[in-house]
Amino acid sequence: MINDPLVKTLLTNVVEDESNLPIVEALNDGIETDEQIAEKTGIKLNIVRKILYKLYDMGLASYKRSKDPETQWFTYSWKFEKDEVINRIIKDSENYLKMLNDELEREENNMFFVCPQGHVRLDFDEASDYEFLCPACGEELSFQDNEKIIDQIKEDIKMVESNFNSFTSKNKK
Ligand SMILES: [Zn+2]
Repeated sequence: MINDPLVKTLLTNVVEDESNLPIVEALNDGIETDEQIAEKTGIKLNIVRKILYKLYDMGLASYKRSKDPETQWFTYSWKFEKDEVINRIIKDSENYLKMLNDELEREENNMFFVCPQGHVRLDFDEASDYEFLCPACGEELSFQDNEKIIDQIKEDIKMVESNFNSFTSKNKK
């Protein structure tokens, strides 16, 4: 599951560095305590703890606290919240797709004008408000063919959809 590109991207963002991903893998394999995780992964205990609390903060891990009757010490048994990871990815992908589709619609339904110095990119209404002169430097704005931008957004949408479809088919409940 952790090798799925969407899962990997989400978790790498949370754990800050790909080298910390084995912590999540160990947790996902059912290893419960910070010390056992540190031992299994060879990652320093303080980093393991930091990452576990980050996952907890994001709702992607939970823990149970119990007291050792002999030593009176608390032990924490951690659990990976796989369902929460799945929900998060579904929500993120849907938001991202909506954003891309809104962007595509805006690109397809507008004409854009740019400053030759690169100061601004304005749609027709905004550009006419400035009488087609750059508000930063006063140079005349020129029409920009946005076909390449549109193609790029369409490609992004295809990629997100294909990752999302492969993710949902693998993680159906
Ligand atoms: Zn300018």
